[in-house]
Amino acid sequence: MNILIYNEGVHDKEEWMKQIYPEGIHGALKQALDFDGNNITVTTLEDVEKVVTEDLLDKTDVMLWWGHCAHGQVPDCVVDMVHRAVLKGMGFIALHSAHLSKPFTRILGTSCTLKWRDDDRERLWVTAPSHPIAQGLPEHFELPREEMYGEYFDIPKPDDIVFMGWFAGGELFRSGCTFTRGYGKIFYFQPGHEQFPTYYDKNIVRILKNAVKWAAPMVRREQIGCPNSKPAEAGKD
Ligand code: ZN
Repeated sequence: MNILIYNEGVHDKEEWMKQIYPEGIHGALKQALDFDGNNITVTTLEDVEKVVTEDLLDKTDVMLWWGHCAHGQVPDCVVDMVHRAVLKGMGFIALHSAHLSKPFTRILGTSCTLKWRDDDRERLWVTAPSHPIAQGLPEHFELPREEMYGEYFDIPKPDDIVFMGWFAGGELFRSGCTFTRGYGKIFYFQPGHEQFPTYYDKNIVRILKNAVKWAAPMVRREQIGCPNSKPAEAGKD
């Protein structure tokens, strides 16, 4: 598979974060997805405009997106290209605070706002045990420290809710949700706050691997007449 990882890479430069993710969040994601000879490209806010091209996206099976404090700095031309690629069939995985990223809110079409609180304990429950993203996981597992994300999460009705998160403070959250837009499959996954080593957890790694396999395209087609199509491509299959 050809996998593209975007991590905005802003917090990653700070000393406190190097203690948790010495290679950045993108480094941990790359390590998690380094299986079956996957070809992995990494980009951060600094070079996203150079790295992400129509050509690269046409060859990308699944794109992962982690962002937090610099959503507004992502160029709209990149968001347009990513949106178009998803409609054509590219899988898209939005991680943690990417719920407010430009491509995710564009693809889903709602505000994607939620409640949040620092530092809690989370128990993730598998709520769709037959879903490919839940394969090989226990009925539930815990993350000793994770940021609380709570309902109401303003998303369109998901195709499947694969995981529900319960927090020690009492909140519930739809932590793992799937959607379909055009020919593309989308997975939103809540864990992954930058202050905790969530992306090294063995169950989380399992979910990321399952998710990229699930989200890889079965079909890729231009969306004819899609309002987001490039004018030159409109009408071309
Ligand atoms: Zn966070």
